[in-house]
Amino acid sequence: MDDPAVRCREALCFLSEASGIRVLRQSSFYRTEPVGFEKQDWFINAVAEIRTVLTPQELLKATQEIEDKMGRLKGARWGPRVIDLDILLYGQEVVEDDDLVIPHPELHKRRFVLQPLCEIASYAIHPVFGVSIRGLMDRLDDDSRVYLYRTSGEPCLA
Ligand code: AMP
Repeated sequence: MDDPAVRCREALCFLSEASGIRVLRQSSFYRTEPVGFEKQDWFINAVAEIRTVLTPQELLKATQEIEDKMGRLKGARWGPRVIDLDILLYGQEVVEDDDLVIPHPELHKRRFVLQPLCEIASYAIHPVFGVSIRGLMDRLDDDSRVYLYRTSGEPCLA
């Protein structure tokens, strides 16, 4: 919602300014077809690689604070939102807490996740399946449309 490419750029800036987080790389922005609940505008998706001293739970808290700051509306699960920050991978760690699952359980099923992820980390290994991101892309059964929108620009330097 509300100029999504600008919102994504803002979120990347907030992420790079957050304590204990350094943004190392970010993918281009992709225009992606809504999956699940299709009568809505297309989304903008991107992924970033960060270095962090935060634990997975601390990182979740940090991303939720950014979502709150950006005024995320708690609406329909797959509906329009100002911003949605998800933790896809945390190195090779597997987390199965009530409120946090890493690798993200939808990661391997979604073209709108794998395509940007493949741009910056095709070699990364999914720690549960033992398959690279490239390998997951090759096996992907999701033909929803994902188009390169534009590069995400210079990283924000905190
Ligand atoms: P959603 O709005 O659909 O992204 O769901 C947000 C909820 O998913 C949050 O309240 C988190 O507690 C939970 N969650 C579980 N695993 C993750 C993850 N890997 N990254 C972000 N949120 C997660």
